[in-house]
Amino acid sequence: MKHCFLRFPGFKLKALTLSYDDGAIFDKKLIEIMSKYALKGTFNINSGLFALEEGGRCLTQKEAFTLYTQSDNEVAVHGVKHLPLTEVNSAQALGEVLLDRQNLEKIFHKLVHGMAYAYGGYNDSVVEIVRSCGINYARTVDDSEGFTLPTDWLRWKPTCHHRNPKLMDLLQAFLEEQEGGYWRKSPKLFYLWGHSYEFEDNNEWYIIEDFAKLAGNRDDIWYATNGQIYDYVQAYHKLRFSAEGTFVYNPSAMDVYICYFGRKYKIPSGEMVDLEIL
Ligand SMILES: [Zn+2]
Repeated sequence: MKHCFLRFPGFKLKALTLSYDDGAIFDKKLIEIMSKYALKGTFNINSGLFALEEGGRCLTQKEAFTLYTQSDNEVAVHGVKHLPLTEVNSAQALGEVLLDRQNLEKIFHKLVHGMAYAYGGYNDSVVEIVRSCGINYARTVDDSEGFTLPTDWLRWKPTCHHRNPKLMDLLQAFLEEQEGGYWRKSPKLFYLWGHSYEFEDNNEWYIIEDFAKLAGNRDDIWYATNGQIYDYVQAYHKLRFSAEGTFVYNPSAMDVYICYFGRKYKIPSGEMVDLEIL
């Protein structure tokens, strides 16, 4: 039986993240709602499609910088011009990803290492191009309707789109994940995605408001960006256990929380911690 389980910061069993695409002005309203309920997420941006003037459907570069930076959400690649990567040649696909990454890193002065596939389009050769551009995680549009952490981070399947008819049932199931099985449960992640303009165009702001009211501001959930989740899971996998399993070293730059033989341990960054085996 498995005896070591990842726990999110604060020993939480659950994490929740959002992923919204295209840099629409409606991200402003979405982020207001997210902030009210402590939700965090990743915004996938096309750096070649910023509006030149305020007032349209796309954010200007300046508006985008202010919005995503002040709200402490993450910015990730979505292709310079939102081209379908499976339908252009390799050089174009490479340019879409690499140039978008370079542009966003310059604009936001932050490391950008995630993305979402424009139109959800990917195949094996696109994934290799994305990998070669230093992208560590990339979201698809294939709803898993599940809560497991990805094993293939460049083909990251979200739980569901916000228009998935099962949205609130899935959320309810996620919230009801019993803490009773805490000691032998794998960590759970709820991953919601979409476009903020869909709320506006379809008059469906109630969907995200209802979702946020129920999912947000809870003590038992870690609210994080896609990148924070990726980084944290990597730190967990980098833990080095002694041959007898009686101590562990955390070489990463972040504290890691685990359940080990039915006990909770916080392994501080750069430290070694003794463990008990039952
Ligand atoms: Zn898009």
